[in-house]
Amino acid sequence: MNALSASHPHGAAMDRPSSRGARVEFDRVSKDYGELTVLHETSLKIAPGELFALIGPSGSGKSTLLGILAGFVPPTYGAVRIDGTNIVAVPPYRRNIGMVFQNYALFPHISVAENIGFPLKMRGCGKAEIGERVKKALAMVRLEALGERRPAQLSGGQQQRVALARAAVYDPGLLLMDEPLGALDKNLREEMQDEIKRFQRAFGATVLYVTHDQQEAAFLADRLAVMRGGMLEQIGTPRQLYEMPCTHFVASFLGEAS
Ligand code: ADP
Ligand code: MG
Repeated sequence: MNALSASHPHGAAMDRPSSRGARVEFDRVSKDYGELTVLHETSLKIAPGELFALIGPSGSGKSTLLGILAGFVPPTYGAVRIDGTNIVAVPPYRRNIGMVFQNYALFPHISVAENIGFPLKMRGCGKAEIGERVKKALAMVRLEALGERRPAQLSGGQQQRVALARAAVYDPGLLLMDEPLGALDKNLREEMQDEIKRFQRAFGATVLYVTHDQQEAAFLADRLAVMRGGMLEQIGTPRQLYEMPCTHFVASFLGEAS
């Protein structure tokens, strides 16, 4: 049991029964902003350990769906379950979810190791435990030698790997990534795609990965969903979507160069 689940009443529900990845379920989830419905009765199941990508044009509702799971966006209707428990009323910091965003926002004035340990410090972990977990997380992204450096002394790709390690350091069953490679140039993106795939296999968490880059999604994802106007237009493996797109929209969206 990790430090987080030990310290809050939802701990038992958040523990993963068999796989170390969380099981995620959206059950007819809607989001309205006043008159505007940006998510329409969306249902989706993500299996433990699955890397699930969400793609679609800008404004289609990808970040809204991710934000509902993270707890930043309260849904208007519906249930969101992690390992069978509805988490809609659980505050974000108790959801046992790691996050990686495009602007990975490392603290510039503290070391890489301190950056990675920060979420543990916030959760009141002791020094020895922090040291041990940070060491493990650094090894997971192959940055063992750079823990004492400041973020500015690292390359862009290395900084993004620090953000990955920080998201994983308290051993969450679920990682959310919203355009995590959006700020990187093409070569680095490809390198980091390999890194993320390797990392996810080793770490074993369930991942919800938002990107507007369909090639990236096809490379990384076990399954993906194409989103349009607040609805999941098609869900399937990359192969199913490319070979049997169910609408013209899916076909043309997947066919576009990113
Ligand atoms: P994506 O991540 O796919 O680009 P978003 O989930 O960010 O899309 O946005 C979906 C829709 O919801 C957009 O039309 C956006 O303008 C709208 N939206 C997002 N946040 C708000 C908000 N706080 N108030 C009103 N409308 C919002
Ligand atoms: Mg977005």
